Amino acid sequence: MPPIVQVADLRKRYGEIEAVRGISFDVQQGEVFGMLGPNGAGKTTTVEILEGLRKADTGSARVAGVDVFADPSGVKQRIGVQLQASAFPEHLTARETVDFFAACYDLDVDAIGLLRAVELDERAGQLQERLSGGQRQRLSIATALVNSPQVLFLDEPTTGLDPQARRNLWGLIQSIRRGGTTVFLTTHYLDEAEVLCDRVAIMDQGRIVAMDPPRKLIGDLLARGFTKPVAQQQASLEDVFLDLTGHELREA
Ligand code: ATP
Repeated sequence: MPPIVQVADLRKRYGEIEAVRGISFDVQQGEVFGMLGPNGAGKTTTVEILEGLRKADTGSARVAGVDVFADPSGVKQRIGVQLQASAFPEHLTARETVDFFAACYDLDVDAIGLLRAVELDERAGQLQERLSGGQRQRLSIATALVNSPQVLFLDEPTTGLDPQARRNLWGLIQSIRRGGTTVFLTTHYLDEAEVLCDRVAIMDQGRIVAMDPPRKLIGDLLARGFTKPVAQQQASLEDVFLDLTGHELREA
C-alpha cells in the first residue's frame, strides 16, 4: 500500500526565516504519526502545508493520493482538521455544532453517532460553550470526523486538559486508529507521543533530526552510551530530623 502522506524536499521561507529547510518523510496508512519539536521548529508550517492551508516554496507533498499543491481543495475533502474549540460558532448545542460542520461539506451525518464515538452523546443538547475543556476537545474531534477523513490532523490535542481528560483522549485517538484512520498529531508532551505514536519525527530549526518509533529512538540513545543519574534518595528530610534530634519522645 502506498504511503498516505508523502513529502519530498519541502521548503518554506518567511522573509529571512527559513521555517522548513527541505524535509522528506512518509506516513503509512493506519499509523499514528507524531511531529515533535521545540517552539518555532516548523511543525505548524509543515502541517498547514499538508492541510492545503499554506503554500510551500518548493518540494512536493501528496496526502491521501492528492497532490497538495495542485489540488488543495481536494485534500481538504479527504482530511479532518481539529480546530481549537474557541473557533466554534456560539449558541449552538454539541449536536448542532456537528451538523454545522457537516453542512460545510454539504453532508448529512449521523451527529449522535459521531457524538457517541467521542462519548458525548449524552451532552448532545448542551450548548458547546458550556462543555468542559475535555468535552470541547472531544467535540472538536467529532467535528473533524464529519467527512470520514482518511487522515486526521490533531494539533496539540491534549493541551490544557487534566490528567484524566488527557488519558480519556488518548483512548479516543487509539480507537480512531483502530477504525483505520491515519492520525497525524503534533504535541509538546513527550509521554503522550511515547504512548500514542507508532513513529515520531523530531523537528528542530526547520529540519527533521530523527524519525523512528519511540522505542527505537530510546534504544538508539541508550546504545550511544547515554545514562541518566538515577534519583534514588537514600535518606529523607525526616531521617535528617530524627538523626539530629533523636527518636525519643520528648513530651515530658
Ligand atoms: P510552536 O511549537 O511554537 O507552534 P512550530 O514548530 O509550529 O512552533 P512554526 O509556527 O511553523 O513552528 O514556525 C516556524 C518559524 O517560522 C518560526 O520562526 C516562526 O516565527 C516563523 N513563522 C511562522 N509563521 C510565520 C508567518 N506567517 N510569518 C513570518 N514568520 C512565521
